[in-house]
Amino acid sequence: MYDVTAIGELLIDFAARDTDAAGYPTMKANPGGAPGNFLAALSKYGLRTAFLGKVGTDAFGGLLINTLKEAGIETKGIRQDSSVFTTLAFVTFDAGGDRSFSFARKPGADTQLSFEELDLELIDQAKVFHFGTLSLTDEPVRAATKRAVEYARKKGGWITFDPNLRLPLWNTPDEAREQILWGLSQADVVKISDEEAEFLWGITDEEKAAEKLQKEFGVKLSMVTMGPRGAYLSNEKAAARAACPRVMPVDTTGAGDIFGGSAVAWLLKSGKAPEELDEKELAAMGAFASTAASLSTEMPGGIPSIPSEEAVLKKLRGSEAV
Ligand code: ATP
Repeated sequence: MYDVTAIGELLIDFAARDTDAAGYPTMKANPGGAPGNFLAALSKYGLRTAFLGKVGTDAFGGLLINTLKEAGIETKGIRQDSSVFTTLAFVTFDAGGDRSFSFARKPGADTQLSFEELDLELIDQAKVFHFGTLSLTDEPVRAATKRAVEYARKKGGWITFDPNLRLPLWNTPDEAREQILWGLSQADVVKISDEEAEFLWGITDEEKAAEKLQKEFGVKLSMVTMGPRGAYLSNEKAAARAACPRVMPVDTTGAGDIFGGSAVAWLLKSGKAPEELDEKELAAMGAFASTAASLSTEMPGGIPSIPSEEAVLKKLRGSEAV
């Protein structure tokens, strides 16, 4: 039995922060992929998780599988295919620390997963099914994701969705918009960033974005994150804001995924349905997720930066000992 099963991309992020004596970029290889970060946060906070995806038989594929295993995620649903190479992403930083992405992914192994290769038992055995949009950019993984979402909805249980917009991966912005809108229409719980809401609808007000998600897409619980400005959480009954604790960010990689995974971990542990949470509970869920995400920015990388539950609770209590 699993709490959450996710489908999606697995890739290596090469982060080019430094240069060598000749001035060439030196790159650090970080195992990455949003659904992996999301599940790793859930596992860190005691939930049972499983992954559906594809990597190559190259060394990076093995590194990704081992990283997820060590994070406590069931990896038997990850296929290894010798005909494709594990997807590689190159991340560069501007002077303000903001990231730009380029992807070696034509095709990357993650895009070559087909529905027939999915271990459907991992969906049958999970309470929640999670997906994003990097598995909607190309075929056959787009059809695999859509059929998996349909399968999970028929089976019952909640669907959670994080758009995770990466424009360089799409042929056109309109295609990205169309697929994200489809994802929103399938989901019970959505974590979206203020930038994604602006891209989709030109909406810069988080309350209006959340209202749109609930009224037009039938989303039961919406979480709009706003980087260092925190997050806005709402359902039909109530709404709450979560502020960011004071941190010294060095790398925001995965912060949004860690926010989503931590929030869903809190929700599952509460034993409540997304639409049942009252204002106090939304505030508590937001505070936990925002604190976990913000603390993760103080450490480099995605999965290794997820703080322990103890560290999150200490920070929430305002302890200086974190
Ligand atoms: P990602 O970069 O993973 O795609 P995102 O755009 O989905 O992230 P953000 O809104 O940037 O998500 O951030 C999610 C959460 O991470 C925020 O709600 C906040 O708690 C934390 N966070 C992000 N950036 C910072 C920062 N600079 N300082 C403190 N906390 C941050």
